Amino acid sequence: MAKITPMMQQYFAIKENYKHCLLFFRLGDFYEMFFEDAVIASKELEITLTGKDWGQEERAPMCGVPFHSADGYIARLVEKGYKVAICEQVEDPKLAKGIVKRDVIRVITPGTLLDQSVLDESKNNYIMAVYGEKSGYGLAVCDVTTGEFQTTQFPTILAASKILDEIARFSPAELICNEGLKEHPLAEEIKKRFQIYLNDIDERMFSHRTAKKTLEDHFHVASLDGFGLEKKPQAISAAGGLMWYLLETQKNGLEHISAVKYYTTGDFMPLDVASRRNLELTETMREKNKRGSLLGVLDETKTAMGARMMRKWVEQPLLQAEEIRKRLDGVEELKNDLFLREEIKDVLRTMYDFERIMSRVVYQNANARDLAMLKNSIANLPLLKNILMRCKSGCLRELYEKLDPLENIHELIEKAIVEDPPFTVREGGMIREGYCDELDTYSRAKKEGTSWIHQMEEEEREKTGIKNLKIRYNKVFGYYLEVTKSNLEDVPDNYIRKQTLANCERFITPELNDLAELILGSEEKIVSLEYDLFTEIRNAVAAEVERIQFCAHIISELDVLQSLAEVASSRNYVKPVVDDGDVIDIKGGRHPVVEKLMDGQFIPNDTYLDNDETRLAIITGPNMAGKSTYMRQTALIVLMAQMGSFVPADSAHIGIVDRIFTRVGASDDLSAGQSTFMVEMTEVANILHNATSKSLLILDEIGRGTSTFDGLSIAWAVLEYVADPKVIGAKTLFATHYHELSELEGKLAGVKNYCVAVQEQGEDIIFLRKIKRGGADHSYGVQVARLAGLPNKVIKRSNQILKQLNAADITKKAKRIAAESREQAEETAQQVDMFHLEETQMLEEIKKLDIMA
Ligand code: ADP
Repeated sequence: MAKITPMMQQYFAIKENYKHCLLFFRLGDFYEMFFEDAVIASKELEITLTGKDWGQEERAPMCGVPFHSADGYIARLVEKGYKVAICEQVEDPKLAKGIVKRDVIRVITPGTLLDQSVLDESKNNYIMAVYGEKSGYGLAVCDVTTGEFQTTQFPTILAASKILDEIARFSPAELICNEGLKEHPLAEEIKKRFQIYLNDIDERMFSHRTAKKTLEDHFHVASLDGFGLEKKPQAISAAGGLMWYLLETQKNGLEHISAVKYYTTGDFMPLDVASRRNLELTETMREKNKRGSLLGVLDETKTAMGARMMRKWVEQPLLQAEEIRKRLDGVEELKNDLFLREEIKDVLRTMYDFERIMSRVVYQNANARDLAMLKNSIANLPLLKNILMRCKSGCLRELYEKLDPLENIHELIEKAIVEDPPFTVREGGMIREGYCDELDTYSRAKKEGTSWIHQMEEEEREKTGIKNLKIRYNKVFGYYLEVTKSNLEDVPDNYIRKQTLANCERFITPELNDLAELILGSEEKIVSLEYDLFTEIRNAVAAEVERIQFCAHIISELDVLQSLAEVASSRNYVKPVVDDGDVIDIKGGRHPVVEKLMDGQFIPNDTYLDNDETRLAIITGPNMAGKSTYMRQTALIVLMAQMGSFVPADSAHIGIVDRIFTRVGASDDLSAGQSTFMVEMTEVANILHNATSKSLLILDEIGRGTSTFDGLSIAWAVLEYVADPKVIGAKTLFATHYHELSELEGKLAGVKNYCVAVQEQGEDIIFLRKIKRGGADHSYGVQVARLAGLPNKVIKRSNQILKQLNAADITKKAKRIAAESREQAEETAQQVDMFHLEETQMLEEIKKLDIMA
């Protein structure tokens, strides 16, 4: 067998360690891929597949992309779910003996993508690690582009649902787990619910000892206690495993991940996937658009950093009254002081996404333009600090105090980098005049070289008296002095003869040589010196990453507060009273999104719920009356209040809820292969298992997906279960088209009837969109059908059938069955109660346990 070429041997040796990646192998100005990698990449990127000799009979399949435009290709592959290993020459080819050394310098994966052209700047790009063992579960999450890194852990019994909630909250681009977890039902569930690739990692990297050491080494600390990780073994495993993976793939440039934060899910209101989707928090259900979502209404941020923070606030409402009130006070001050707000906005407008610029700085792939953008972004920080000085609310005072104006960093870049530097860092033109004497000399030589030569020519003519002495240039000798034959006797001794021609001789002098060297080498020297200076400055800025990231954080919070103030002012929102009480009392509430679309036509409604007389509101009314709008608006107002936003209402008193659950309409989850009814029931089951008396439940048309009596029975039983303070007793809005349920008012404690008013006008109905006390007794289904434009013939026929059915008194039958089932329910309820007592006692005991300890 023929011998494999040395380069290919090198290729195989490297590829051996990166089997799961597409290996981008640097050859000159190209990244080349070979064999299977080449076949895949040529197909995915639609580039030509060629071949390369490798010492064997058949050529190796090969394809390649130019080095300077590789980013776009890499991003496309990563988006398609591939990992790309970048293999560079790691020594200067000029100095190499034999074949140039090459090594993988970075592996790019979906969760570690840095390319700004493909990342959505208004979203974080998270990578998450989940670690599971018998005694508990750990979870860690990191955004490599911003340096955010946090971790938490859960006891085994709570883990599954918590982890699913956290995945929904962060929606990571990549998920890694320990090998053991890959076989666990949780892994199946994750794959089913989220379209995400679960990548398992060697168990050893998550082992407590290794994980702890990885973290301690990375953060240069002797103990992790300072991060609040004492006695948090699973959190340490998850964070350590994630850090190991990042180090393994990124190799370097992770200094900006300078701390890990331990958080508990108790800091934020958990929101399950269904509720996030149903309430259209960050995107609409159908088009997956931000426009039309709550975020779309609230986001008036001026910076990309602020936009990301706003998304977080929307996705993670708070649970602590004090924290919420602090934010609200900040929003209030900015809302009331238009001048202050405008001044802050003006400064924010001058800021680029310097949080992400910093990750490029640390990764050493920032160019001088990035540094200039960073400089411009922080230029107005002292001014901003000055503006914030006059703020009074605790919230803004705190931002004022924490804001670091970063003056020395600004000064450094200002002094060193020109105003409008080029994209490339390899062609000079970046460093400002006056920053470095040596560089200035070269620059002058480059610019003024020709006139220096002329000057020397002039001086030599004078010194020697040779009038036609010339300094000339050619490629072989460079610069030389030329004297004609007739003047040779005047040539001084220090001239060194280089060449004799027919009618003249050519000389050089040491002085001319020095000058020539300065002029001819200046270009090259400028380029290399500028590059060195630039890297020096970039490193100096990188060393300040913690301060700069912290500043970015302060700026993003300020941006969110001003955005909320702006919206509160332009949309006429009020400051909610938020406390730990049990009352939700909204006067004149509006749906933030629908209201915006309707431009003044929206009809406000009140909501009152407590944990006593009015715990559960049954809402009836025809289709299209406005039931689901009303229920969602209540949920959104509560959520907005808890994120620290003003709310669309005349007044609002919000007792903090621990969770909002929604079961709304038929969701389009059919892709998961489940029937609508099955999806509905799974969601209801989740709610019944997890809701507490502190929760807010939005239940829309429970039981709709099955036959009337099945549906009615299920709706009925669910309602009883939810309303019963001994079981759940949650504050609930319950919309139903089963009018029979209205009979429960007065029979079940805490249940009240409401309906959405409609007005009959002859055969038609007019929607009044007003919620009022009492049950509706008509469905007006046929009228709504007419409004929808069903053919007249069908409408007429429906009316006929309806009359016949009414005559047969089918509702009476329904009512009878309903009454019977209620009696039964009461009996079973009493039976259940006996077990229930034990169960509650047990639950109380469990709740008392400190499982995190
Ligand atoms: P239902 O759930 O009762 O079938 P929806 O809540 O879907 O009804 O409301 C139907 C339509 O009525 C909505 O698309 C909206 O345009 C309009 N609507 C709902 N509530 C109001 C309101 N309070 N003021 C004005 N229009 C409303």
